Amino acid sequence: MLCQCYQKFYYILAFAHQPIYDGATESKLSIAITLLGTRTNWHTTEKSLDYFIKMLLDVAPTENCILKTLYEAKKVVSTLGLKVVKIDLCEVGCMLYYKDDIELNECKFYGHPSYLPSKVKTKHTKECK
Ligand SMILES: [Zn+2]
Repeated sequence: MLCQCYQKFYYILAFAHQPIYDGATESKLSIAITLLGTRTNWHTTEKSLDYFIKMLLDVAPTENCILKTLYEAKKVVSTLGLKVVKIDLCEVGCMLYYKDDIELNECKFYGHPSYLPSKVKTKHTKECK
């Protein structure tokens, strides 16, 4: 017999796996993962993905369970205990800036800078030494 936490997990997983509308091959979970992957892989803004979601809603049947925002996609994934965590990567893919390496300013293997050099300082960039 499964313990209560496993039952809850499977219940949530089954809910997230429901087709987004009758006959659809995609689920709420698959759409959420695709959206979060798009945001990560192509640095897409949250606003542009919300616009894309609106386009999906406009062409989908009215009876659907498509996510309404990227925030909702994050919630679906997080209810399964999967956190959305941004992890910096060396510019050429040598290493992840994660756990003990999170504060490093350069790649520990080849010395690649962890931040792109910037001539214009903003609050989101760090000057490369
Ligand atoms: Zn590197």
